[in-house]
Amino acid sequence: MTNRDPTVFVVDDEIQARDSVCALVRSMGLPAEGFDSGEEFLKYYQGQAGCVVTDYRMHGMNGIQLQEALIKQGNALPLIVVTAFARTPMTVQTIKNGAVTLIDKPYDNDNLWKAIRVALNRDVLQRQQKNDFAEIRLRLKSLSGKEQTVLDYILKGTTNKTMSSKLDVSLRTIENRRRKIFSKLRVDSVAELVKVVLESRVHQS
Ligand SMILES: [Mg+2]
Repeated sequence: MTNRDPTVFVVDDEIQARDSVCALVRSMGLPAEGFDSGEEFLKYYQGQAGCVVTDYRMHGMNGIQLQEALIKQGNALPLIVVTAFARTPMTVQTIKNGAVTLIDKPYDNDNLWKAIRVALNRDVLQRQQKNDFAEIRLRLKSLSGKEQTVLDYILKGTTNKTMSSKLDVSLRTIENRRRKIFSKLRVDSVAELVKVVLESRVHQS
């Protein structure tokens, strides 16, 4: 799945509206797949790359509920909500939930296409970031127990000298473990080390 082109998933209960968005996407050279309802899309979706263009008002769940369900599944797929009912509270909620944009119906092809490009770029960035954190977690796991202990001391700001006496090993041993940690985590400074470790903890989900 990961090597496939990103797909634009079009969710709309009106077949004409759905088909016209799919046709626009395909005319731009990207795959599009249409779904009759949010429920149908959720049943199908397995984490593929891409974005969603969804109608707001549909039978069954609406566009916002679809977005919430995706977020709950851990799939924060960028979403474009097309609506004839762009009321302010809904807009605020949508943006707060991370939807890329809200487009008024009837929409202009150029605007919709622009929003799709933004959404697809955002999906690429989100996936890249997710991979980066997974990679960092692997590097952290590669630390030995003793290196882990030294890392914990470094994060607390403990000096090499204090570590040496607390762990009852030579200063040279501490320095060697430090070097190993820096090399395994591919960082060049304590500041970078702290940043990498803290970020990987924040994104542990
Ligand atoms: Mg509808």
